[in-house]
Amino acid sequence: MPIAQSIFRYAQAVRRRVHAHPELSAQEWHTASYLQAELAALGWSLVTIPETPSFLAVWNPRGERFIGYRAELDALPIAEATDLPYASENAGVMHACGHDMHMAIAMGLAKMLAEGSAVLPTYGDAASYGVVLVFESSEELLPGGAPAILASSEFARYRPRSIFAFHADPSLATGQIGFHPGAFMASCDELYITVAGQGGHGAMPHLTTDPVLAAAHVVVALQAVRARMLPPFTPSVLTIGRVEASGATNVIPHEVKMQGTFRTHDEEVRRQAHARIATVAERVAESMGNTAQVEIRHGYPVLVNAPDLCQWVKRQLSAECENAECVEVPMRMTADDFAYYAQQIPGLYLRLGVGVGAGLHTSTFSPDEQALGVALSALQVLCQHAELWGSRGT
Ligand SMILES: [Zn+2]
Ligand SMILES: [Zn+2]
Repeated sequence: MPIAQSIFRYAQAVRRRVHAHPELSAQEWHTASYLQAELAALGWSLVTIPETPSFLAVWNPRGERFIGYRAELDALPIAEATDLPYASENAGVMHACGHDMHMAIAMGLAKMLAEGSAVLPTYGDAASYGVVLVFESSEELLPGGAPAILASSEFARYRPRSIFAFHADPSLATGQIGFHPGAFMASCDELYITVAGQGGHGAMPHLTTDPVLAAAHVVVALQAVRARMLPPFTPSVLTIGRVEASGATNVIPHEVKMQGTFRTHDEEVRRQAHARIATVAERVAESMGNTAQVEIRHGYPVLVNAPDLCQWVKRQLSAECENAECVEVPMRMTADDFAYYAQQIPGLYLRLGVGVGAGLHTSTFSPDEQALGVALSALQVLCQHAELWGSRGT
């Protein structure tokens, strides 16, 4: 059933308010305090996570079984180039990843539960069910906000039985919800490689070890890790996106600094790749008289949607949520720190169609707000089912 207009208007107003006042990762204090004031007025209990803007909002804190919904608080260092009346008022900062939409969905759910238009199941022990909204700081910036939340005693107290997230998706039409069971999004690790040796005059390369040529060989050889040393059945990507050699037309520099990313869909393949990347870079550089220093900064793990939960939710929404069209979506090589929750708790990360348009992380990204109503209808349906709490109605 479509949600009430008043709920939609409320979610839309929240979205526009946070959209106009975006804050960068780990600095979302104003956003957090605005949301906390709204939630307190709606009768939700608030639990802050120490030393971060992250916080939890809990419905029925005396409950014994919780489900969770994660919304990110942070925006990106992008100058907004839309002409929306509620465009960013913070120069150079923009909600270009749809996190404003995710927060608005959480707040719409908060209002629905507060006003009784979303209800938790009653199987004779209604008081034992609760909802925890996880408002997470710093999703866009490694190490992400999730590890600190998961490690906190505050989260342990309200640890949900299952956890959900929507992510705005401008490749899907409004009304569509994208499902993918199992490994859905990639692990992402950052590569920092420095090839160093003897520089010198560009006209006398035989007196140098030419770190530039060695670095070029390293870039090429690293593709053999992906293509020849890892199982071909597991998707992986290795990209070197930054190469810095500050020589000149006639100067061979002493070192070349490179940066890149490695992503895959399997934690074992990820471990294998790390060792191979280091060995290949070091040995190739060494074979030409240079050294290679390889640093791999671990990013988010592989995001795995719990297959049972994914199938169950898809079936329920297909049957009961008439304004949502459930579609299968392919796996992605992008990453999200929701993966940390899903490593520990049955988790489901859904793609929310916001109308086909400008991509995420672009200055003209502008999601269709009607998608808020679609997500809220879906959550309204899900709230009613005790199966989500892992209780099977007992
Ligand atoms: Zn993003
Ligand atoms: Zn995002």
